Amino acid sequence: MTTSPVVSFEFFPPKSEDMERRLWECVQRLTPLRPQFVSVTYGAGGSTRERTHSIVRQLAQDRGLPAAGHITCVAATREEIDDVLRGYWESGVRRIVALRGDPVSGIGSRYEPHPGGYAYAADLIAGARRIGQFDISVGCYPEIHPEASSLADEIDNLKRKIDAGADRAITQFFFDPSVYLRFVDGVRKAGVNVPIIPGIMLQSNFKGLRRMAAMCGASIPERIATLYDGLDEDPETRDLVTAHVAADLCNRLAEQGVAEFHFYTMNRPGLSLSTCRLLGVRQHGESI
Ligand code: FAD
Repeated sequence: MTTSPVVSFEFFPPKSEDMERRLWECVQRLTPLRPQFVSVTYGAGGSTRERTHSIVRQLAQDRGLPAAGHITCVAATREEIDDVLRGYWESGVRRIVALRGDPVSGIGSRYEPHPGGYAYAADLIAGARRIGQFDISVGCYPEIHPEASSLADEIDNLKRKIDAGADRAITQFFFDPSVYLRFVDGVRKAGVNVPIIPGIMLQSNFKGLRRMAAMCGASIPERIATLYDGLDEDPETRDLVTAHVAADLCNRLAEQGVAEFHFYTMNRPGLSLSTCRLLGVRQHGESI
């Protein structure tokens, strides 16, 4: 790789003081890599949502970072969502990741739009555009969303979101570069030209990763699964394997011209730092 790629980092809102310390350590250690943006995910419950808003505001106001708040359509009226968006805009948050969200009763159950809410991500994007000129990212699914009937259906839905005003899409995690490249090819043929940023998973708990992959329809190639064989009790080696797998995937994509990556950090700075280092992303001012 000749020039180092552009990176962004995704965090989740902490549930305890200990986890909150870990989040801020993560932010502090990753900030020198000058991410294009950092984002914070959004849960289903009221207190989780408040934590997301508060962390996003702190990232933007106290740390001066390009912070993006994830926001979903689930279990909220349009007015409630619009209030959150206005609150972000007023506190200087200029980026959001606009999502439909998963059904309140869990992934796999039937999604029912809130009667007074935004039904799907495309509707939420149109609503956000009425409130401010946010930079809007959306989700997309190279192995198709579990509710999409085909790749064409998946791409049609992405196109609706871009037409509604989204600026880029971030992919669900995947492990096979050809899955991403095929998807982007289809997206471009459909006339969608916004950046499609690969979402790179840094989950070194392999059992947890398998559960997540099964729920969201992402496949884990056997060649990767076998790397974790026998490591259930060895988190240190799993971390090394995870950073290597992620960097290998990014480097293979970079060979095909991909120059931006979004990391699902799991609030673990070491994994993101080592992966970025393997990609040639260094701290500001540090020579490669
Ligand atoms: P949409 O793009 O709205 O669509 C999902 C599916 O709904 C489509 O495949 C289609 O089958 C159907 N659909 C869409 N429009 C219509 C329509 N008009 N009529 C009928 N059916 C329609 N979840 C969270 O809860 N919090 C987060 O912070 C979060 N962050 C994420 C970040 C990324 C990068 C990604 C990829 C996902 C994230 N998710 C998050 C998960 C996401 O909420 C789920 O995958 C959800 O099931 C779909 O959201 P979406 O925005 O992609 O949905």
